[in-house]
Amino acid sequence: MIVTAFAAAAFFAAALAVWQKSGSEEGWWHAGIQGLGLVVPVCCVIGAVGVIWLGWSLFRLTGGIASIAAWLRHDKPELIQSNPNATVKSLVEAIKTAFDRYSSQAEDSAEQVKNSQIQAHVSQRRQKNTEAIIYSMRDAVVVIDEYNKLSMANEAAGKLFAFDYKHSHHTPISELIGTDYSEFVDFLIQSTKNKARATRREMEFLQTGRQKTFDCVVSCVFDQREELCGVAAVLHDITREKEVSQMKNDFVSHVSHELKTPLASITAYSEMLADGEADDEETRNEFYTVIQNQAKRLNRLIEDILNTSRIESGLIKVSKETASLTMLIEEQMQMIKSYAEEKGIEVIGQKPIVFDQVLVDKDMISQVIVNLLSNAVKYTPSGGTVTIKTDVDEIERLAKVTVTDTGVGIPEDEVEHVFEKFYRVKANNKQAKGTGLGLNLVKQIVEKVHDGRVFVTSKVNQGSTFGFELPLATAEAVQVA
Ligand code: ADP
Repeated sequence: MIVTAFAAAAFFAAALAVWQKSGSEEGWWHAGIQGLGLVVPVCCVIGAVGVIWLGWSLFRLTGGIASIAAWLRHDKPELIQSNPNATVKSLVEAIKTAFDRYSSQAEDSAEQVKNSQIQAHVSQRRQKNTEAIIYSMRDAVVVIDEYNKLSMANEAAGKLFAFDYKHSHHTPISELIGTDYSEFVDFLIQSTKNKARATRREMEFLQTGRQKTFDCVVSCVFDQREELCGVAAVLHDITREKEVSQMKNDFVSHVSHELKTPLASITAYSEMLADGEADDEETRNEFYTVIQNQAKRLNRLIEDILNTSRIESGLIKVSKETASLTMLIEEQMQMIKSYAEEKGIEVIGQKPIVFDQVLVDKDMISQVIVNLLSNAVKYTPSGGTVTIKTDVDEIERLAKVTVTDTGVGIPEDEVEHVFEKFYRVKANNKQAKGTGLGLNLVKQIVEKVHDGRVFVTSKVNQGSTFGFELPLATAEAVQVA
């Protein structure tokens, strides 16, 4: 009512001001009288609205009182009938209880709001953690929603499938990932249809001209109502594992072959000796030599296998002393000579150089030299040459041994792998049998045990140069020796 009166007064004053401004000659009072024709009806309308609003409020209030009275009449009739004071008291109590209930409800609601804010915060942090884990994973991760649109992906996935993983959200996965990977896309879409909890499949993709194998695990994501809300796929590159397992299989078959061949010779020749098939001393000696050589071959192979695992596990006993590299080379050249002659290959050595002393385990470095020499002979066709030499770099204090052959060489893309365990160059397999262990052992002995460095250069059908560098022994070390 007060508001309505104020509004009317304000309207009336404003109207007078307007008429006064609009140039009425007779002053405020006269202008007011002039304006009454319009102002009075407007004030009446505003007043009427106020009266209606007041009436409505009173009506609501009486309704409320009536309902409280009705409650008392029905639920607490004894209070009304017996004691009017008690009625008032219980009415007050009822209002107080209602007020308490409403205020506790308000507190509950405030608590709920606070809880949901905390929950929102926690779930935001969880999402951030999940994103951090997914983004830092080396495996490719792709998550799609129930409509087969991208929800999330990491850098590895972006690289693998060649898409912009940061700005491709909500794009249909079939548009995002090209037809080269249709097997993967189909697998994802199929999973959204099947709603299988987790499925796994091995997939092969051609990447930069190389066949790569991935272990792909796809899991469906369900919400609280157990309804599918997405599918997450993790792709783990198992190309290397596959290669290693293939290499191991090849190794087992090679080793067993390598072991069987000398064993077969030893058995055959010793049987012939036992059966008296070697009549004369010369034949018998020839048979003994074959048996000895094959036994040595067996021994070398077993030593290679054992030494590799001993060095890897750090269990090998190393006894270093100063030695001349040229002298060690000379000894090993003698060992290899008969094999080279058999194949019609010339082995060229070098004149001893003045100071080529190194602090080494002689047996191990001898094994390095013999492995490089025997490989050079093995992979060089008849009529070729193998040259071994030592260079000394006084400034860098390094001794460098190189073994150069005129053999079959190694394809460019395989050169970097030849020092890996069990690695054999496919193109050269028919040249000679082997285990793929010799060069790995060379690398382990030179780099792990002697702090040196191995190297290789090669050209197919022109030949290869394998070598190693070792630190020169200090003058004090030589004197002590
Ligand atoms: P393997 O027992 O097979 O000879 P290695 O570890 O000694 O094992 O050598 C690994 C591979 O490197 C060989 O299978 C061969 O293909 C290649 N290789 C090693 N030395 C030479 C060489 N001098 N010329 C050409 N290929 C070589």
